Amino acid sequence: MAKQVVTRTYTASIRNQSRVSDDLDSLGFAASKLWNVGRWVCDRVWSEIGHIPGHNELTAYLKSHERYDDLHSQSSQRVLQELAEAFNGWYGKRRNGDTTANPPGYRKHGDEHPRSTVTFKAAGFKLDTKYDRVRLSKGSNLKDYWSDFILCEYQTRPDIYLSTVENVQQVRAVWTGDEWELHFVCKVEIEVSESPGEKTVGIDLGINNFAALAYEDGHAELYPFNCLKQDDYYFSKRIARCDDSNSEQATRLNQKKSRRRTHYFHTLSKHIVQRCVEKGVGTIVVGDLSGIREDEENDEVKDWGKHGNLDLHSWAFDRFTDLLEYKAEMEGISVETVSERDTSKSCSCCGRTRDANRVERGLYVCDDCGTVANADVNGAENIRQKVSPSSPNLSVNRSNGWLAQPSTFLFDKETGAFAPQEQVTS
Ligand SMILES: [Zn+2]
Repeated sequence: MAKQVVTRTYTASIRNQSRVSDDLDSLGFAASKLWNVGRWVCDRVWSEIGHIPGHNELTAYLKSHERYDDLHSQSSQRVLQELAEAFNGWYGKRRNGDTTANPPGYRKHGDEHPRSTVTFKAAGFKLDTKYDRVRLSKGSNLKDYWSDFILCEYQTRPDIYLSTVENVQQVRAVWTGDEWELHFVCKVEIEVSESPGEKTVGIDLGINNFAALAYEDGHAELYPFNCLKQDDYYFSKRIARCDDSNSEQATRLNQKKSRRRTHYFHTLSKHIVQRCVEKGVGTIVVGDLSGIREDEENDEVKDWGKHGNLDLHSWAFDRFTDLLEYKAEMEGISVETVSERDTSKSCSCCGRTRDANRVERGLYVCDDCGTVANADVNGAENIRQKVSPSSPNLSVNRSNGWLAQPSTFLFDKETGAFAPQEQVTS
């Protein structure tokens, strides 16, 4: 066992909700208004000079704006940072070929403003773990004559003691739809296992399978979409049958669908980490989906629409990668993300990228060296090699194992776990 410092977010309820909710409302509305001012500035600058300002430019520009003083300066800065991040996320999606992605919008419903999350950094909060209280700073505009802060009495989960936490770095006030809650972003020291080994595995997410894994020893595994697809189909049909898509029943079905998806992601990430432990893997290499596709002109962009009506967007894969990272970290396994450039086009055996090399019925066929491999596994192996280039020894070994059929794991609804295809009955 070794110790490692990681970031964790703990959620807490607010015990004196009725005393502080008006004040928190004002801050939440103020954050939305500042967002909208920033959003408007982006439009203006864009139409003047064809450039969307980044975070620093926005802050420099809006520092003296009246709305900036509604919140603590660090909280205001964070709102503008989120706006800049939202624009960056949008550019990324556009570059990935997602033409339906919309730029970040205004936070306004008619004349109403939603309650945005307000973030308090070091200078903006004061934590009193003895009495479970936290003081959250207001902006100078919202201070009244007797108080310049909001005093929240919080309650964390019974097993979480903020007093033992190394360092609370941020506090966020988050509106859940019914009430306010607090998120404490902390540095905590955790016990992590020794790394299971030196080996690597490459993971390709989301072409024909949810995940394809290529291990260093030539073994490969596939995790198909089957259960996600069935679930999606089932819930979409039931939701479509609801008279009103905003009805309570439709909302409940949507929540259930998303809970089941989250459960699937948790189970799969846990399963993969377990497999890595068994196989002595110390590094997982994942293709970076949010990254820039540098080979745009080749029209070889991941085709998310391919999965029919399965509305699995790239953020679902991001979420899965987060869970995988979190679980791997506890086992002493590191997760590295690499650019996916050329990983689906080149031959993982001889390294050649040729137009003549092609994918037929899910198989990658190389005209140079004669390799025929599952296309997703070929991609996963290329991703793996970006971190751990194959040694000459390995390629000899691979000539035996490489063409072998990958094993397929399915989610077994009976047991709620992943199992080899031949063992799954449900
Ligand atoms: Zn080849």
